[in-house]
Amino acid sequence: MAAPLSVTPAVESVLARLQDAGHQAYIVGGAVRDLLLDRVPKDYDIATSATPEEVRHVFGRAARLIGRRFRLAHVYCGRTCYEVSTFRREPSPEERKTRATDDGVMIWQDNQFGTLEQDARRRDFTVNAIYYNPLREPHFRDDCGGIPDLRAGLVRAIGDPGLRLAEDPVRVLRALKLVAEYGFRLDSSLATPVREQAPALSRSSPARLYEELLKIARKPYCAETFAACRQYGLLQHFLPAMDRLWDGSAGELLRRLLAERDRRLGGGEYSHSRALALATAAFAPAWLAMGAPPGGLWEHNEGIEKTLRESVRKSYSPLPVPRVLTARARDILLLLPRFRQPAAKRRLLRHPEYRYARELYSLLSAIHGWDAAALADWPPSGTGPFERHGARPRYMHRPHHKEWQAP
Ligand code: ATP
Ligand code: MG
Repeated sequence: MAAPLSVTPAVESVLARLQDAGHQAYIVGGAVRDLLLDRVPKDYDIATSATPEEVRHVFGRAARLIGRRFRLAHVYCGRTCYEVSTFRREPSPEERKTRATDDGVMIWQDNQFGTLEQDARRRDFTVNAIYYNPLREPHFRDDCGGIPDLRAGLVRAIGDPGLRLAEDPVRVLRALKLVAEYGFRLDSSLATPVREQAPALSRSSPARLYEELLKIARKPYCAETFAACRQYGLLQHFLPAMDRLWDGSAGELLRRLLAERDRRLGGGEYSHSRALALATAAFAPAWLAMGAPPGGLWEHNEGIEKTLRESVRKSYSPLPVPRVLTARARDILLLLPRFRQPAAKRRLLRHPEYRYARELYSLLSAIHGWDAAALADWPPSGTGPFERHGARPRYMHRPHHKEWQAP
């Protein structure tokens, strides 16, 4: 490979410190895919031969070990957190017997560290098992053939596709995310198992599915991801409420809203907010719950709060969306008709969700062709408590556990 692909100085320094201490350390996963495809990585996962304790030794207080059984290190560089995980190996058939039956998640002794080769084999798809070291040659370790598959746009399972999906059905969703986000095709040996294992997703841990939903929401490929899930029969097991409305007018609205949201998010014109993302996708079911009012928006009425709250909750059921987020998404929906009531302006501007409600209102205006000038009088940010700081405090979006590795 020619010149190394450039990564941020902070990532380089994490890798350099591990390597200087005598350990192997590579970037792996989504960041490598993105670098090879000339996209800017959202976050970096680091894989190393160092045990979690050794990682802590290298980074001292900048490293925190998390997870009780499966230990990972979170290494902080300034405000950015990198997940550093130790090479692991696949469980032996004996260890596999202790697998949880309810979840499809592999549980095995957590001290089974392994080599890079073994670590690669327990990952899900070849394009996710490319190891990249920008500091030294050889820059790439690609034992599973991920680079040619990436170039060919192919999602190929590592090992037997049927077994690997059955072992952890969340991989069905992960395969379709690759299809949606990169325009990849499923390898011919994967397409049938994806359909067959789709129903097993309902048995997966809702917490893990919720983490996947949040990751989908962060990227501008939501419309494609929902469509791919629908096409392969997965949506009914992932987000049943969205699946039920898919073929009707609310489904059409959902698709248009998501496509326009993705376009705006990709162009930096839509906020990266979980509450806003949840409210945006929940708008179509909420519109239905409000009696599908012509014109596309309901009016404020008695009992609307409860209807909207229930509608948001049902939109994502059975995923465990925290109540605080459901409440925030409900508030965003609740504020929408207020943009048509200039008398309520001062109060609306003070509301903590004002600016997100405005973004969603603007999105709806574009979809429905509402008078664009109507928003001109509404400033992009309000006067609420979070606006002074520009935004709400940012919470770490990284999951605190990777259950596929062993909860
Ligand atoms: P994203 O862009 O959504 O972060 P990603 O591929 O980086 O995509 P992560 O959830 O961050 O996904 O996981 C990092 C890596 O860990 C993956 O690329 C893959 O190698 C491995 N991995 C994650 N989940 C699984 C799983 N369920 N089964 C096997 N390997 C997995
Ligand atoms: Mg990742």
